[in-house]
Amino acid sequence: MGEAGILSREEALRFESPQWKHACHVLFYAPCHGRLFGKFPLRYAVLMQMRFDGRLGFPGGFVDPEDVSLEEGLSRELQEELGPGAALLQVTKQDHLSAYTSEKPRRVVAHFYIKQLTLEELQTLEEKATQAKDHGLEVMGLLRVPLYILQDGVGGLPTFLTNSFIGNAREQLIHSLDTLQLVPREQLQKAVNMAQKRP
Ligand code: AMP
Ligand code: MN
Repeated sequence: MGEAGILSREEALRFESPQWKHACHVLFYAPCHGRLFGKFPLRYAVLMQMRFDGRLGFPGGFVDPEDVSLEEGLSRELQEELGPGAALLQVTKQDHLSAYTSEKPRRVVAHFYIKQLTLEELQTLEEKATQAKDHGLEVMGLLRVPLYILQDGVGGLPTFLTNSFIGNAREQLIHSLDTLQLVPREQLQKAVNMAQKRP
């Protein structure tokens, strides 16, 4: 086992259904040049979604017993939540970053994938997302994460991090921004610290 509580795909598969339910979610990101107001670097487009429950999360969901693999289950969930644009993308075993287990309110193994896209691919996903079966139902809309900190020191990423997130999506986001180096480490640290100070 690597970091405390973080499992690899293989380790996580030892938690067998039906005692454990497996869920898969994915972070899609693309390099994104340009600056907000000609000043703040956009860096990357990172996709999250507003969920039906008012929390932020990543696209994906529970794998069904009928799904032949975790990735097949994820692919089905992505089609439901993101619509026809998801069919153009394959998330594979190699994109698996981590998994973690939680026992409350029920036993869930949450798998997390990350996949880099071109900005064009990501824009196609965004454009087609309103055609998804779950649009306006389980998914209230896709969004991009602001990766900059505005002049006042709180606008942008620090304020974004004060939202409510499902499961450990907030930790997954911060961990990914750090390991993929989507935000310089000292900026990320500053954003996390600022977010902690706000009510
Ligand atoms: P969903 O069908 O997308 O709500 O996902 C199934 C379950 O996975 C939910 O009950 C959540 O508790 C959990 N979950 C959703 N998103 C995440 C996430 N990003 N990280 C960890 N667990 C999640
Ligand atoms: Mn879902």
